[in-house]
Amino acid sequence: MIYPYAFTVPTVQDERGSLSFAQIKSEIPFYVKRIYYIYNNTQSLVRGEHAHKKLEQVMICMNGSVDLLLKAGGKEYIFNLSSPNQAVYIPKGCWRSLSNFSKDVVCVVLASEVMQEEDYIKDYEEFVAWEREQACVSSVPYIAIDRCTDALKSQLQTGFEEFLSSGEYILGDAVEQFEKSFAHYCGASNAIGVGNGLEAITLTLMAWGIGPGDEVIVPANTFIATALAVSECGANCVLVDVDEKTYNIDPHKVETAITDRTKAVIPVHLYGQSADMNPLMDLAQRFNLKIFEDSAQAHGAQYGDKKCGSLGHGAGFSFYPTKNLGAYGDAGMITTNDSALAEKLRMMRNYGCKQKYKHEILGTNARLDALQARLLSIKLDHLNGWNDRRRALADKYIQSLSGISAIVLPYVAASSQPVWHVFAIRVKNGLRDQLKEFLENAGIGTNVHYPVPIHLQAAYKHLGHKVGDFPITEKVSEEILSLPLDPMHTDGEIEFVISKLKEFFA
Ligand SMILES: *Cc1c(COP(=O)(O)O)cnc(C)c1O
Repeated sequence: MIYPYAFTVPTVQDERGSLSFAQIKSEIPFYVKRIYYIYNNTQSLVRGEHAHKKLEQVMICMNGSVDLLLKAGGKEYIFNLSSPNQAVYIPKGCWRSLSNFSKDVVCVVLASEVMQEEDYIKDYEEFVAWEREQACVSSVPYIAIDRCTDALKSQLQTGFEEFLSSGEYILGDAVEQFEKSFAHYCGASNAIGVGNGLEAITLTLMAWGIGPGDEVIVPANTFIATALAVSECGANCVLVDVDEKTYNIDPHKVETAITDRTKAVIPVHLYGQSADMNPLMDLAQRFNLKIFEDSAQAHGAQYGDKKCGSLGHGAGFSFYPTKNLGAYGDAGMITTNDSALAEKLRMMRNYGCKQKYKHEILGTNARLDALQARLLSIKLDHLNGWNDRRRALADKYIQSLSGISAIVLPYVAASSQPVWHVFAIRVKNGLRDQLKEFLENAGIGTNVHYPVPIHLQAAYKHLGHKVGDFPITEKVSEEILSLPLDPMHTDGEIEFVISKLKEFFA
């Protein structure tokens, strides 16, 4: 809930008179799309008497005076405007009445939206009912990207304006800036922006010279991109089963899968929890392997005191809109402490050149989009806060659901500080699909990550696997259920999900 407030418009006064100024970001928290004014006031009648569901406003009285009464959340706010350097911010969802207009009044209103009839609530009873409905939870979306976008709207719009006037639409300063801040965020010495998460993996494997005849070990329980990257390089994808507690790749099973053709292992920090990296790095040393962290779900996650993205020989991030750090389109990043690898990747993603038209190696076009880099830079500043919020909501689930014996709660390894990209429970006794349907009917969005393991996908038929080859992955795929967990979910929404889960298992 955002409350209405009065503020003083910054004003310069000198012998010529006064000059007041308000601008986006510092005083006006939205982009102005409409302006209207009230004047020629012959009779002092009451005006307003309505609310807006979405519209935000700033009201300034340029001449004369007016009283403003606002009602929201059961509270009343009274303001008197009588000077051009006083303003009132009116958030969405406020009932307003304007009264006691002076005859000479000139009252200006700046508005965040163009005229939309359906945005008005013109009946007070209806407004009270609407407010009540807003406050009580009747459905919970699986994720709430729209709320995050709403909260950052003016910043994102400013980013977009700056992008338009920058003239830099391919690579350039904004991409470099974001690469620097992201590398710093991960504690890695280099970051190379690419087009998406899949490209981050594929390009790095290619940069390591991995290709036909080589083998790369991948967990069977992951999003298909991890395996597709291996296939795209022409190498063989060797699947191994996962750990029953963390659902991450099992280092013991990796060791037994190593052959003299194995070149790399791709641990996935699934659901935002780091894979067990120390034993994998030991194997890498013993068998001369590369370890690539698929960090697409683990922006900010920690293993010991280090962040995912700084643990292996290279790492790949996705900024797909639903990830913990999400773009407004496709985007991805490679991080690595290997500066020679970084230099090669920087060329590879941009037609194999450092200097325009001097193509030193075979490359491709896999650049990070400059607009996405700007928007991601804005969002990166919020990532720690969002991850903290995810942790708080995950704690709430864990504390409230620990008594339900038919649920297996996520296990957090001692060395790990997850970022809860996904809050996945396992539902025993074959009840997963029934529970999913029950929650759906209660208005609660859920997901299954992932319903079909890689080895049972039609696209990977050629690997020759059958049901039973990776029993833990298969069991997980039948029992796993992802509950709503988004930094923008309210406590009330998560409590609603918890109450419905308790109801189902009662
Ligand atoms: C999202 C994701 C990817 C792929 O990222 P894109 O940006 O969609 O290409 C790869 N691996 C994992 C584990 C993912 O979750």
